[in-house]
Amino acid sequence: MTMAVLKRTIVFWVFWLVFQIGLFWAGFFKQKMDPGLATLNRLQWSVWTSRGAGLNLAVTSALLMVPMCRNTMGLLRRTPLGRILPFDEGIFFHKVCAYTVLFFTVVHTTAHYVNFFNVQLKLPALKLKAWQIHYTTWGGATGHVMAVAMFFMYTAAAMRMRQQSFEAFWFTHHLAIVFYIGFFFHGYGCFVKTADGHCRPYYSWSYALFVCTIYVFERLLRVYRGRQPTSIERVIMHPGNAMEIQFNKPSMTYAPGQWVFINLPEVAPLQWHPFTLTSCPEERYASVHIRLVGDWTKNAARVLGCMDEKSTRDPRSVKLRVDGPYAAPADRAFDYDNVICVAAGIGVTPFASVLKSLGFRAKTDPDLVLRKVDFFWVNRDKQAFEWFQAELRSLESMLPSQLLQYHLYLTEKLGLDAIHNYCLNAAGADFDPITQLRAQLQFGRPDWEHELAKVRDRVLAANVGVKRKLRIACFFCGPAPVARALRDACIVLSNGQVDLDFFKEHF
Ligand SMILES: Cc1cc2nc3c(=O)[nH]c(=O)nc-3n(C[C@H](O)[C@H](O)[C@H](O)COP(=O)(O)OP(=O)(O)OC[C@H]3O[C@@H](n4cnc5c(N)ncnc54)[C@H](O)[C@@H]3O)c2cc1C
Repeated sequence: MTMAVLKRTIVFWVFWLVFQIGLFWAGFFKQKMDPGLATLNRLQWSVWTSRGAGLNLAVTSALLMVPMCRNTMGLLRRTPLGRILPFDEGIFFHKVCAYTVLFFTVVHTTAHYVNFFNVQLKLPALKLKAWQIHYTTWGGATGHVMAVAMFFMYTAAAMRMRQQSFEAFWFTHHLAIVFYIGFFFHGYGCFVKTADGHCRPYYSWSYALFVCTIYVFERLLRVYRGRQPTSIERVIMHPGNAMEIQFNKPSMTYAPGQWVFINLPEVAPLQWHPFTLTSCPEERYASVHIRLVGDWTKNAARVLGCMDEKSTRDPRSVKLRVDGPYAAPADRAFDYDNVICVAAGIGVTPFASVLKSLGFRAKTDPDLVLRKVDFFWVNRDKQAFEWFQAELRSLESMLPSQLLQYHLYLTEKLGLDAIHNYCLNAAGADFDPITQLRAQLQFGRPDWEHELAKVRDRVLAANVGVKRKLRIACFFCGPAPVARALRDACIVLSNGQVDLDFFKEHF
């Protein structure tokens, strides 16, 4: 990790810790210093601690839902706020909030267990037994229900579980409904009140209710959008285990690089899977490219007649539902004048859309800001290049290399015969024998710092005398180790004259 990355990470965590500690002390002292709560304060540390952690839970449980309001986040992302806040890191923030909630739940619950036994032992005047508070009060009963819901949600959300059974994760995550209903009623019975019966709540429910209302509205919007007329036009099976669905949805407008949720009721009526749009808005139809990796994608291919060459099923008769589009980092590509797109394998999908749109806009848009795209595509096997071969070929012939430059890499180890054949066919040929493109294929893994430095130096050389600071965007879609290498390279190569902004797509 470079110093700059370390600095950014430290700033975030210091801010988060200070914020959480601040909340805790605010809740703690609000309880401790309240003369009206003198009787309850005889319980001392346990009640102060439970109230401190209670305030953390009140605020963080509301924040937890914020990144899940994807449509609202997508709208805010296009405002000036989008320049300050990392809206593309929503899932990371959701996880940070979730772990914070887990930590303070343990603190809050432990402190309350101590409270309840102490109420029985130290405050006999209240005539309450510990078990009564645990199970018969609103606070105790809803607290236990929330803890059980959390247990299932958190265990099913573990990375291994999600990879093994995404459905188990997805359905158990809906226990969030139980969690939030418990949350709204947690303070209802008014456990914390003054001697004359006045309640001293944090109004926890109100923060979460606000965000949950937006979320519910968004879910309804999803249902509505998903039901708008949509029809499949064509389904194509590509080499390398990828299926393309071309469809028509007149009500949908989108920007290049965005993604949608796809549902095939015949495969699984309740499952919605995210896929990036590989078409561009200028095209007549929309499309997605789907790699067949698991149960749903393989069943989808079967239903659409792609698994069986003899299938006579007309895919146009299959019902398709599409919800979206949703914002993604690559939809900022046209805001920059120099862009680097790096794709690994099926991670090419967001850039297919960006590059195709560039092909149209270069001819029709006189205000096009984007001057040059360097497109890197790294594939493990030769067949993968065929997914977008036709499109890449037409773009290569349509756009000058000053506007679009390909850098294609194959990481597969070739046998001696294959190398021999390649060399024979490549010598003097206009097109690369594997990719059928003019750009020559390179073998092995790219040295990212070296490649990005070449782009940066070229941009600097082309902008000598320009006073403003130059900005290059580097978009990436693929596995985490490459993302780290690129992010570090962007930070190392940024200097007083040029910033390399790094964006990662989350598949
Ligand atoms: C924003 C986004 C864009 C994507 N774009 C593409 C694309 O253009 N082309 C492509 O081939 N793939 C894309 N994916 C991945 C694709 O959604 C999964 O490969 C697909 O859902 C796998 O489903 P499965 O049941 O066949 O496989 P499984 O074997 O069940 O799952 C394979 C992997 O996909 C993940 N996954 C499964 N279901 C879902 C789901 N409903 N939502 C999110 N992740 C899931 C699992 O965590 C697992 O790691 C994208 C994912 C995201 C989040």
